[in-house]
Amino acid sequence: MLYLDNSATTQVHPEVKDAMLPYLMEEFGNPSSKYYSVAENAKNAVKEARNNLASLLGCSSSEVIFTSGSTESNNMIIKGVADYYSDQGNHIITTKVEHPSVLETCRYLETKGFEVTYLDVDHFGRINIEDLKKEMKGTTILVSVIWGNNELGSLNDMKSISNLCLEENVFLHSDATQVIGKIEVDLSNYPGLTFLSFSGHKFHGPKGIGGSFIRKDQYDILTKITPLLHGGGQELGIRSGTLAVHNIVGFGKAAELANIHAVKNRNQLIELENYLTDILKEKFNTHIVFNNDVTNKIPGIISVQFKGVNNEILVKKLSPIIAVSTGSACSSSKPSHVLAAIGLSIDQVRSTIRFSLSSFLSIEDLVVFNQL
Ligand code: PMP
Repeated sequence: MLYLDNSATTQVHPEVKDAMLPYLMEEFGNPSSKYYSVAENAKNAVKEARNNLASLLGCSSSEVIFTSGSTESNNMIIKGVADYYSDQGNHIITTKVEHPSVLETCRYLETKGFEVTYLDVDHFGRINIEDLKKEMKGTTILVSVIWGNNELGSLNDMKSISNLCLEENVFLHSDATQVIGKIEVDLSNYPGLTFLSFSGHKFHGPKGIGGSFIRKDQYDILTKITPLLHGGGQELGIRSGTLAVHNIVGFGKAAELANIHAVKNRNQLIELENYLTDILKEKFNTHIVFNNDVTNKIPGIISVQFKGVNNEILVKKLSPIIAVSTGSACSSSKPSHVLAAIGLSIDQVRSTIRFSLSSFLSIEDLVVFNQL
């Protein structure tokens, strides 16, 4: 079976698995314990993993907070900012094409008295910076904009968004789950970006581990938010709980590998995407329509309408040979809100499937398409 659902999750890299195993067995200590070797070894392993994440992101290791994944990071930051700064304003701006972990968090906050603006997007799912500017007001405390879309791959212009938020002195958060490990993200170039969410299992790390970047100010003080998990004070008191050392080590290894092989992996994904796009065009011709842009996108995500075909039936039919999805795995039971937001009709949404590639694949793997 050919796995082409890498935006849903990826296979763990063999080196990630090998790095993790000792921390499940002999090196099982709690990194918050002291003096004896299994605790110190666990502490050092967490430190190394944090350093690897920081070098992948271009930030300081003390700005990386481990969480269980992007759902948690998105919840932690949005609720944490809303709660901590509620005396300064109650307005949040986000977009119509966010992941449910952002949208549902915002909807929850609306029930608590916050006002949320959901920005429209263009036909590839990108926001317009002028729209964002227009919606900002004195009560705006947070802007949350997805960096790269999980269904279409389209990238937002984070440089301009970051500059605008810096100018307007409004916190900016970005859900970077789909871009980390795929495109270069050097946070030193985005001074207006205060918060980021990311997840290990999207780039060949384990599931159940992710992180948040929280920027430090010029006095080396971490931006304050209300903690999501109160307890023993781990992760600078923002996210208490015994650290999942094996998962953190695997996450750190995945970050290290993504950093080392960044250019090679990106080129590989571009080559695979071009090849698959050409096969699809050749085979299905006027029976398909591509929803995604071809430039300025995450390499390896293709969104295609198969005209007149029900996507659920197609995905099911393909499943013995090719694993693909109708869109986001997190909202697979509902028609895609992302595709609706870019202006597709319900029939077009219901005929769309997403192919998402991985640098583990080779061109030879895609030959199976010739047998369709
Ligand atoms: N945001 C985006 C854009 C995603 O694609 C996903 C995963 N589908 C998430 C957030 C949630 O990530 P996690 O699985 O780590 O909770």
